[in-house]
Amino acid sequence: MNEREEPRVLPEITDLNRDFWTSGRDGELRILRCKACRVWCHPPRPMCPECHGRDLSYETTSGKGTIYSYVINHHPWRPGLREPYVISLVELDDQRHLRLTTNIVGCRPEAVFIGMRVAVRFVAQGDFFVPLFIPDDGLRPA
Ligand SMILES: [Zn+2]
Repeated sequence: MNEREEPRVLPEITDLNRDFWTSGRDGELRILRCKACRVWCHPPRPMCPECHGRDLSYETTSGKGTIYSYVINHHPWRPGLREPYVISLVELDDQRHLRLTTNIVGCRPEAVFIGMRVAVRFVAQGDFFVPLFIPDDGLRPA
């Protein structure tokens, strides 16, 4: 696997997003979910976009999804980056429109396509775990 080992620029860690960035410690991808209407919410926010409830907590997702869109980056934005690499929006199986901005690793950038099945993998960075996605042969659940 050609996962990039360079330090990544993480967002500011807050009480709201900390569980997202540490969740990968046990290999599980957790995302905020509304306890009232069960809608998943990402990026993390204090209020449910659906019912405006404020009782949200992190729950474990399937960790699987489909590439919704992607771009192959060829520009060396920072020293130490090994381009080209794939920046992608992955839509998780757990809910329509539940999408993460991430990188696709574990395959050549040219092999990536819209609709490709992917599964989460984590790269540890200090106390945090960055969710990346690799190609997955598994079929989309019915
Ligand atoms: Zn809700």
